[in-house]
Amino acid sequence: MRFSLPRALGYLVGGLWTGQGGRKRIEARQSRNLRRLVEKVRRDSPLFHRLYADLPPSDKIELRDLPVTRKPDLMAEFDDWLTIRSLSLKKARAHLRDIGKVGVPIDDVAVFQTSGTSGEPAVIVLPSTFVEYAFGIMIARFDRGMRKLVRTVRKLGTRVTITGGRGHFAGNGFNRLVQRLYPALAKGFDLTVIEAEQPIDRLVERLNAVPNVAWIVTYPSVLAILAKEKEAGRLKIEPALFSTGGETLTDDLRERVGRAFPSLKYGILDPYGCTECLMLSFECSHGRKHVNEDWVILEAVDEAMQPVPDGTVSSTVLLTVLANDVQPFIRYDLGDCVRYSEDPCPCGSPFRSFEVEGRQATLVRVGEVTLSPLVFDLEHEDARRIQLVQTSEREFELRMLLVEDAVAGRVFEDVIGSVSRVFRENGLENVAVRASDAPPEFTASGKFHQVVLLQNAKAHRSAQSDTPHLASA
Ligand SMILES: [Zn+2]
Repeated sequence: MRFSLPRALGYLVGGLWTGQGGRKRIEARQSRNLRRLVEKVRRDSPLFHRLYADLPPSDKIELRDLPVTRKPDLMAEFDDWLTIRSLSLKKARAHLRDIGKVGVPIDDVAVFQTSGTSGEPAVIVLPSTFVEYAFGIMIARFDRGMRKLVRTVRKLGTRVTITGGRGHFAGNGFNRLVQRLYPALAKGFDLTVIEAEQPIDRLVERLNAVPNVAWIVTYPSVLAILAKEKEAGRLKIEPALFSTGGETLTDDLRERVGRAFPSLKYGILDPYGCTECLMLSFECSHGRKHVNEDWVILEAVDEAMQPVPDGTVSSTVLLTVLANDVQPFIRYDLGDCVRYSEDPCPCGSPFRSFEVEGRQATLVRVGEVTLSPLVFDLEHEDARRIQLVQTSEREFELRMLLVEDAVAGRVFEDVIGSVSRVFRENGLENVAVRASDAPPEFTASGKFHQVVLLQNAKAHRSAQSDTPHLASA
């Protein structure tokens, strides 16, 4: 696998040219890229060859002709999915089990895993052209304000990434890959990576020990923990900028972080992406997320997979990645709820903008009732971290990390009372909530879920039993 700077520049120049041409040029480019991808996957992916057998010729294909695809189905046929025959699922999994090989390519491709927030982790395969795309487009879409911001913050001090260290996640793996492929490009990248899934005291200690932390890249759930540690006076750092990803950043958390860190001159950047497509969108200096529509299609749809009008929250989104022709993601159900803006963005970008409203996968289901995890107040002055774990359909347990000298019994009593009240207010009378001695846990990718859902609690246990050797890494 090798990185070609001329090809990356090609994406950059092409990206600029497309953006300057407005909607017409964007749509023409998108349609051309789509038809080219469809032609390729029909020829080289046995799975898509079968899936598209009865469709019109590729040069007449419209997006809506193509069937929706889903992770479990694609993963079940992984060996037929790719447009290359040299990488089997068995080979990819063996690579992913070796923690020493994070960011190390296999032959001509890089392999990552998703965090499995919504069930089974997927294996993501990236060709070098995708890495070139990611670079070229990222630079093409930076507006003047953003370029200035990045330059200024870099001068202020160190950038630190806090992410999962127990697997091949793109969070730190992508940086390592770039460093391996093209060290000169990675120079501006920090390689100060701190593992999210470690005792909170050690996390705080390690951050406090980094001189001049200017910029922190992490998950919103870890950011919530940092805000709490800063409020309590234990965390001393004074960053100017946060950037987040991998989970939904709520307005409440944004405000709380702003209050906790008065040094946060540049706020929180929250570009939207996923392991399936790292450069899905870009954030402009007006704080809106714009889709890279020349290379990515993001369809907001209802439960019947029909498009919803702009301004309406979708039931899910379908992702099409035009820049990855080795592992086709075409009308791939991502499970996120988004809302496209009705008005053009004041930044003047012709690329459509949207907001992310959350993930279906994080909703709590008890009997017929569906609740947002945000309805639970899992905060207590005597606890550093509280986690509510669904252990069966109507049973939950609370895990806590208490502050020093706190009396566990009283804190548990308070929180169990408040959680039970939420269930009652939502018409759920016989839900059991009990105290647990177990400590709150991170997901394998280093996210901290305040509410762990039933299917994830199971997945978490099985993932741990699958990978005992990682514990010593
Ligand atoms: Zn904008």
